[in-house]
Parts: sequence; C-alpha cells; structure tokens
Amino acid sequence: MKIIMLGAPGAGKGTRASLMAEHYGIPHISTGDIFRANLKAGTDLGLEAKKYMDTGALVPDDLTVKILLDRVSQEDCQDGYVLDGFPRTINQAEVLEAELKKLNDKIDFAIDVDVSDDVIEARMSGRRVCVKCSATYHIEYAPTKVEGVCDKCDGETILRADDAPETVRQRLKVYHEQTQPLIDFYKERGILRMVSGSGSITDALAAVITILEQG
Ligand code: ADP
Ligand code: ZN
Repeated sequence: MKIIMLGAPGAGKGTRASLMAEHYGIPHISTGDIFRANLKAGTDLGLEAKKYMDTGALVPDDLTVKILLDRVSQEDCQDGYVLDGFPRTINQAEVLEAELKKLNDKIDFAIDVDVSDDVIEARMSGRRVCVKCSATYHIEYAPTKVEGVCDKCDGETILRADDAPETVRQRLKVYHEQTQPLIDFYKERGILRMVSGSGSITDALAAVITILEQG
C-alpha cells in the first residue's frame, strides 16, 4: 500500500499519516521531519533546508526529491509507505510517478485532508511538537498528559518556529499556489480520495480506512 497524504499545513495529515502507517505496519515518511532531524543533527542538508523552512517557503525540488527517493528505496519501504508532506509541487509528483513507473510500481491512493484556512490558522497556534520524537499535540484538542512533556518519550514539547502566525499565513499561500494543484493531478489518475479534516482525531483513522477499503 503506497499512500500520499495531501492537505494544507495544519490540516491534520501528519496525525492521520502516523495512524495509518501504524495500522498497515508500513513506514510514515514526512519530508518535514527528515529536514528537521537533519537540522537538529547539524548536517549540511539541515542547514540548507532551514533557510527555506523558516520563512514558510518550500525547500527546492531537486534537494527534496533526492532525499525522498533515497528514503523510499530503503528495505523497510518494500511493502509500502505513507508519504506526509511529499509531493508538494507538480514537479515532485511527476518525478515520483516516473521513478515508480521504472519499478513497475505506482501510488495507490492520494488522500486529501480538507480544512478551511481559518480553522488552520486557529489550530497551528496551539500545535506543539516533541523535540525528541516529533510526536504532535495540540494544547486544546490533543493535549499532553503533563503540560509541555511528551506522552511517548518525556521529551519537551514546543511551538515550532514555522508555526508562528506570519509564517503560517505564508505557508498557506504557498500551499494554495503550489500544492493544491496536486488535487487535480491525482483526481485525473482516479486515485484521489477526500476526507474532512475537521472531524475528531479519534474517528480519523476509521474514516480513512473505510474510504480505502471501498477501493
Ligand atoms: P506542514 O505540513 O505542517 O507544513 P511539514 O513538516 O510537512 O509541515 O513541512 C515543514 C516545511 O518543510 C515546509 O514548510 C517546507 O519548507 C519544508 N518541506 C517539507 N516537505 C517539503 C517538500 N515536499 N517540498 C519542499 N519543501 C518541503
Ligand atoms: Zn516525544
């Protein structure tokens, strides 16, 4: 099962991607997490990506595509994966499609998690992420048991630099210009499925699985 999660920043695609990956026993691959892990480790890639991420811009396609293709060629991706945050441009989608085609392979579903911009802006300001394991929380909708402490690993939970309000507005603008066209791209291929991003996280997994099992 190879699945792409589409949706605006803050739509809840990361949370759904992680639930689905767990359910199907396949890796959850987030390009944003890969960049942040590199930044934390102080690699050249991390420092390069930071220049773009901090302003809400996209990291250039050549860099992003290389990272992603390296990741999906690893052993644990043989039976599939859930992509979260990739592709984000038509060019990225075309390269992925061409690379998979060489292997006689394809994406099974692209799931669009749909939420309005207003809801997103409200959500992002409450979002918190664990500095150690990248688990995400929300101070209101999905709080940690102890404020500021990750439930899974006891790491510290913080507001991501790019979740600051001005940066969120810039990211939404970039989303509408560059990423939203992917909805039609996958619709044309007959593999687009829509889910509402406004439902509760408890029902989110069941909602997605029902849609996928209908084929
Ligand atoms: P969100 O989905 O909440 O916007 P991500 O963690 O997916 O957050 O991405 C954070 C940042 O990482 C993006 O704003 C962008 O700068 C960079 N990034 C992640 N994935 C990609 C991608 N596929 N192409 C270009 N830049 C990316
Ligand atoms: Zn953690």
